[in-house]
Amino acid sequence: DQLISQIAAGEVVERPASVVKELVENAIDAGADSVEVRIEGGGIKRIVVSDNGCGIPKDQLALAVKRHATSKVSNLDELESVSSLGFRGEALASIASVSDMKVISRVAGEDAFSIADGEISAASGNKGTRIEVADLFYKTPARRKFLKSEGTEAAHCQTVIERIALAYPEVAFLFVANGKPIINLPASSIEERLTRLMPRDFRDAHRALDIKAPALRLYGWVCLPTAARSRADCQYFYVNGRFVRDKVLSHGVRMAYQDVLHGSSQPSYCLFLQMDPHKVDVNVHPTKSEVRMRDSQAVHQFIFHAVEDALARTTI
Ligand code: ADP
Ligand code: MG
Repeated sequence: DQLISQIAAGEVVERPASVVKELVENAIDAGADSVEVRIEGGGIKRIVVSDNGCGIPKDQLALAVKRHATSKVSNLDELESVSSLGFRGEALASIASVSDMKVISRVAGEDAFSIADGEISAASGNKGTRIEVADLFYKTPARRKFLKSEGTEAAHCQTVIERIALAYPEVAFLFVANGKPIINLPASSIEERLTRLMPRDFRDAHRALDIKAPALRLYGWVCLPTAARSRADCQYFYVNGRFVRDKVLSHGVRMAYQDVLHGSSQPSYCLFLQMDPHKVDVNVHPTKSEVRMRDSQAVHQFIFHAVEDALARTTI
């Protein structure tokens, strides 16, 4: 079982940033409105994620760190319409199999308990959950060799947190690397969150949009292309709060930009699509951010028109 877990871990845990992603997503699924991530040594030495969410009851701690144990989906019908970020019940078990992991949690009105190495003990802590991951990949040195420098791994962690933070402006985020605060975001509106996280030249040339159609809504910012702006690193697309890279969706955006792009300029955007969870399948792969949609042509058209209108509204 240990071996199976380590193999499965390869799917979910590629580097410290994958651990950060899974733990922060769990915090959001737990209803936290404040999430703190602290890393040391690029996250290889230590990652601590604390939240003020619902916590894990003592009698569910052992189950939470087991493979395929999830509290989020209880039948096949629910699997069709997952709205939580996690639903596979793989992350904690996978992380535990390739690190030294300790979970400390407290449910409102109860005492705090911890679990490490299958051992449950009394602990102290605030309401919510704190997960400490030390010495990532020390059990699988071959995998550890593929990691980059601590600075690069820390930067990947930061990217992952910023990506999630964009979709959850109502949640406060703190990210500290080697004792140094890197991200400190108060809970805010989406406008303020975008203003904080988007590069300055994007902010200065953005158009906000918010378009609704039956069972579809697209909102966020698109950036008018400028001569100075040819970066491809500012393309964020979310479906129901989940960051995705999807050919159909990004093609819809690109088509809308066709007439306004010049030279080597790239579309820059941060867009949030809300749609009926029954009509979109995010269950394709645990880490690859593809989606499968029913009516993908209609969604493509909707995005195309919404972005085209926003870009045409005014020119700079
Ligand atoms: P999944 O998120 O796919 O359900 P995980 O392995 O990530 O699987 O987590 C297993 C279970 O542990 C979750 O279903 C949830 O019940 C519990 N859990 C994990 N992290 C937290 C957290 N931060 N707060 C509350 N419960 C959590
Ligand atoms: Mg999870």
